[in-house]
Amino acid sequence: MKQPAIVIIGAGLAGLSCARWLARAGRPFQVLEAGDAVGGRVRSDGVDGFLLDRGFQVLLTAYPEARRVLDFDGLHLRQLYRGADVFCQGRLHRLADPFHHPVDAVRSLMDDFIPWMDKWRTLILWKEAAATFAVERRLPEMRTEDYLRDFGFSPETIDRFFRPFFGGVFLEKDLRTSARIFLFLYSMFQKGGAAIPAHGMQAIPDQLAVALPPGSLRLNCPVAAIQPGRVILESGEQILADHIILAVAEEAAFHLLPPSMMEKPKPPRSTTCLYFTTTDPMPGRPILYLDGENRGPVNNACVLTQACPERAPQGHHLISTSIIGAPCSNELEDVVREQMARWFGPGARRWRHLRTYQIRQAQPEGRQLHPGDGPLPALLAPGLYRCGDYVEDVSINGALLSGHRAAEAVLEAIG
Ligand SMILES: Cc1cc2nc3c(=O)[nH]c(=O)nc-3n(C[C@H](O)[C@H](O)[C@H](O)COP(=O)(O)OP(=O)(O)OC[C@H]3O[C@@H](n4cnc5c(N)ncnc54)[C@H](O)[C@@H]3O)c2cc1C
Repeated sequence: MKQPAIVIIGAGLAGLSCARWLARAGRPFQVLEAGDAVGGRVRSDGVDGFLLDRGFQVLLTAYPEARRVLDFDGLHLRQLYRGADVFCQGRLHRLADPFHHPVDAVRSLMDDFIPWMDKWRTLILWKEAAATFAVERRLPEMRTEDYLRDFGFSPETIDRFFRPFFGGVFLEKDLRTSARIFLFLYSMFQKGGAAIPAHGMQAIPDQLAVALPPGSLRLNCPVAAIQPGRVILESGEQILADHIILAVAEEAAFHLLPPSMMEKPKPPRSTTCLYFTTTDPMPGRPILYLDGENRGPVNNACVLTQACPERAPQGHHLISTSIIGAPCSNELEDVVREQMARWFGPGARRWRHLRTYQIRQAQPEGRQLHPGDGPLPALLAPGLYRCGDYVEDVSINGALLSGHRAAEAVLEAIG
């Protein structure tokens, strides 16, 4: 019997995950990707012997779908320190996870830049988060900031810790993102912590791509339009398809779908990441540094070579600095160096700039405000499906899970 033709548009994590599940079910398919490599928003570049991710990203090792789908050993994951160094009142203050770094945690008890009662509340919040397995649907929909206030956290703790830490995760510092998403991510940080692959975030999509059947992936192949039963490429080529899975980001989906199928998305969240290098000695821990004063422009920084020395030539450090938003300024590099000189000392003024990534469409806004009671349906119309982080939740886990659900919907339709 003739196999139905299945076409997946987009080889980000959602598209690759969908392809993986279809391949496991023995269904042939084609993946059409506009870019010159797989990964979508999870890409890395080699620059002068340094390995730079396109924007600072981490994999939370407790992500359930990532655990199901990825071979963590093959990614050579390097765990980041479970805690953060917060720059506030002119110096760095350590906040440590008491279960993993008890000595540092006892020391940080003496430091009162976070009120003692709030340290205690953080532990109670951990207990709450420990019972969370998916984007927390039991909670009423509310902003993260309101949730933290209602929980009893003082404004100082929200401003000095939660705002820069989760602002860096959500890519917005109002903490307007839904508390359901906050609690899910908090539980992921608590259950597994954050890690980065030794050879760049690109290792994640690459691992999924190598398992695809030979010939099933076409790169540099942008899709211009979709019609019932066919996909039209920008080159003019037409591909017949019984099942079309749209695995592109929200904005691109809006342009490819008929207006009746999708509302215009809210403007996406953006971020800017500047990479620097130095041969000067740097603090020894692979830890996240946070702007507890909210003066910016850098919200968070990390000396990546403290976790992954292989990401830089020997004797060099690789430092990533992340800004929320996409500021336009010719002086940005110097302003960032000046801020880093306050955090790390005057040597930062001599750091060599490697590259700046401005990612205007980093995260969708809509579902982060109102994740609702479940993912958006994968099936849009007979033979037309969608997946992507904007359908599930905005994370590596959400993208992988949405691809899985789309594959299930296709397999169900095929019977
Ligand atoms: C800077 C940054 C930091 C992040 N940090 C984290 C983090 O620390 N932890 C975390 O869990 N998540 C993080 N995320 C979110 C996470 O990376 C995304 O949620 C996830 O990668 C989205 O995957 P996707 O497959 O849904 O979409 P995408 O990665 O956008 O993939 C869509 C694919 O479709 C392709 N495409 C688009 N249009 C067409 C077309 N017309 N024809 C063919 N192909 C097309 C694109 O080229 C792309 O490859 C971060 C994202 C960014 C940008």
